[in-house]
Amino acid sequence: MHKTPHRTPIESGCPDGMQYMHPVMRANFGQWRFHEDPRPGVLMHQAWNGERIWTVRAGTQRILDLFSLRRLCEIGDRYGDGHVRFTIRSNIEFMVASEAKVAGLIQALETNGFIVGGTKNSVAAISHTQGWLHCDIPATDASGVVKSMMDELIGEFRAWNMPNRVHITTSCCQINCGGQGDIAINIQHTKPPKIDHALVANVCERPSVVARCPVAAIRPAMVNGRPSLEVDERKCICCGACYPPCPPMQINDPEHSKLAIWIGGNHSNARSRPSFQKLVAAGIPNNPPRWPEATALVKRILQAYRDDARDWERINDWVERIGWSRFFELTGLPFTKFHIDDWRGAQKSLNASSHLRF
Ligand code: SF4
Ligand code: SF4
Repeated sequence: MHKTPHRTPIESGCPDGMQYMHPVMRANFGQWRFHEDPRPGVLMHQAWNGERIWTVRAGTQRILDLFSLRRLCEIGDRYGDGHVRFTIRSNIEFMVASEAKVAGLIQALETNGFIVGGTKNSVAAISHTQGWLHCDIPATDASGVVKSMMDELIGEFRAWNMPNRVHITTSCCQINCGGQGDIAINIQHTKPPKIDHALVANVCERPSVVARCPVAAIRPAMVNGRPSLEVDERKCICCGACYPPCPPMQINDPEHSKLAIWIGGNHSNARSRPSFQKLVAAGIPNNPPRWPEATALVKRILQAYRDDARDWERINDWVERIGWSRFFELTGLPFTKFHIDDWRGAQKSLNASSHLRF
C-alpha cells in the first residue's frame, strides 16, 4: 500500500502548473532563445543564458489505465528527471536537462510500447473527444477511431515525411467539441430525430429544446394527450443539437449516423485568415471496432498531400494553391453537388478575420 498521505483535494480548479515544471523550464520561463529538432519526437530548447533542455514526446491512448500511468511515471523517474506533462493531443512529454539521457529514455518508452514521435512535419497524434466512455451524446467512439487510425499511421507519427505538420481531429457528435483540423473525422447524422413521446414530458424542458434548433424546426405539440414536441422534417438539417437537452429526441443510429471527413481547417497566422474546413467525403460507414473505410480515406488524402504539396504547405495552403477540382482528381474522391457550400448565413454571423466588430 502507498504510505504517503494523499494531498488535500483543491476544489477550485487544477493546481498551479508552475510548481510541477522541470527546474530548468521554471528558471527560464519566457527566456528561450531558440529550439531545434534533433530527431523525430525530440525537441531541444536553449535559453538565452545557454541552459538547454530536451523534451521526448511519446503518444498515448489518452484514456490511460492506472497501470500504464504508473509505468510511464516509473520511466520518468528512472530514465528522465522525474518531470512529465501531457500535450493537448494526449502525448506524454519527458523533460531532461542532459542530452545523455535522451537515448535511454527513448529506448525505455519504445520497449514498453509507447511510440516516440509526433513533432515537426509528422502526422501528430489525433486529438479526440470523449466518446462512449465519458460523454452522454456520442454517436461513435472517438477513442476507438483514434486508436484504429493511429495504428495505421504509426509510421507517419514517428517520421518526418509530410510537407508540414498534420493535425487530425475527431468529433463523436455533430455539434460539440473537437472536429476542426487539417483533417477532421466527424459524425454526420442523416435522419431527423425519432421522438419518444412518452418520455418528453418527464425529461425535457420543452422551451429550451425548441430554442436549441438552429433552423426553427421544432414546435411544442400535444401527443396522445401529453405535452411533447414535433419536428418539421423538411426543415431539419439533422444536426443533433436537440438531443443533448432532450434525450428522447433520439438521433444516434447505427446505420444512419455516418462519418464525414473535412479538411483544411487552420487558425489564423501572421500571413492568412483562419481557414474553415471543407467537406470532402460523406456517408462513410461508422463501422466499429476498426473503422476501416474512414481510415482508408484518411490515408488516401495524406498520400496525395505528401506527394503533391510543397515544403511547409499545410493542407489548406496546398488545396488553395492547386484548387479543389485538382484535389478531388489527386485523391480520387467523388465530387458531388453536396460538396457545394451554398449556405450564406455565416457570412454575417461568423467572425472570419482578426478585426473586432461590434
Ligand atoms: S464531440 Fe460530442 S459526443 Fe463527443 S465528447 Fe464532445 S460533446 Fe460528447
Ligand atoms: S436535429 Fe437539429 S435541425 Fe433537426 S430538429 Fe434537432 S436541432 Fe433541429
